[in-house]
Amino acid sequence: MAVYKNIAEFLEFINISNDNFTLFEWKPARSMRRFDLDLNIVKENPITDIFFHKDKGNMKIVYIRKHNLIYTVGASPRVQYQLLEALLEYIDLLFNDFYDIEVILSYSDFSPGIFNGFKESVENTIRDFADLDLVKRILVECRVCNTVLPLFIKKSMIENAESYPVPIVYEHRGHAILCFIDKNFHHRGVELVNISG
Ligand SMILES: [Zn+2]
Repeated sequence: MAVYKNIAEFLEFINISNDNFTLFEWKPARSMRRFDLDLNIVKENPITDIFFHKDKGNMKIVYIRKHNLIYTVGASPRVQYQLLEALLEYIDLLFNDFYDIEVILSYSDFSPGIFNGFKESVENTIRDFADLDLVKRILVECRVCNTVLPLFIKKSMIENAESYPVPIVYEHRGHAILCFIDKNFHHRGVELVNISG
């Protein structure tokens, strides 16, 4: 629960780029880390409108290419992917609400400094993340761990689903369970699944 309530403490960066340069980047105060290498790898992926996950061991990365932009977030491995997806979806909404990106990028004297004002919105978003009601916390039993685990589900995943229940694989501690979530965010069964990849 703590991770969800204080997501800001677990974030390494949030980046919004196009194929050529960074439009906006947020990092925790005093962070000197740079993520150019990760961002370059992310930009090589041309697929749009699908979330991609990358586990770097000491950091998780989630990214999506949308509206000709690439949104990326890096966080502690303790943050579940669905929380990071929900965060990026919200940031995308806000960013496109604030700015007419296509028009701004078409200016010949455009400089990325124009997006500095977005910092406050991002900081408000991560501070109030738990109050935005973007995710649901569901408890699932894992027969392997023999324990009840919190599984975070972004609401948009259920609300935009084409059929129910919606399957989701929850990978944790070296194994995975397959959970089926119904329209009302109740889980309708949990199975142990085999993993490859
Ligand atoms: Zn388990």
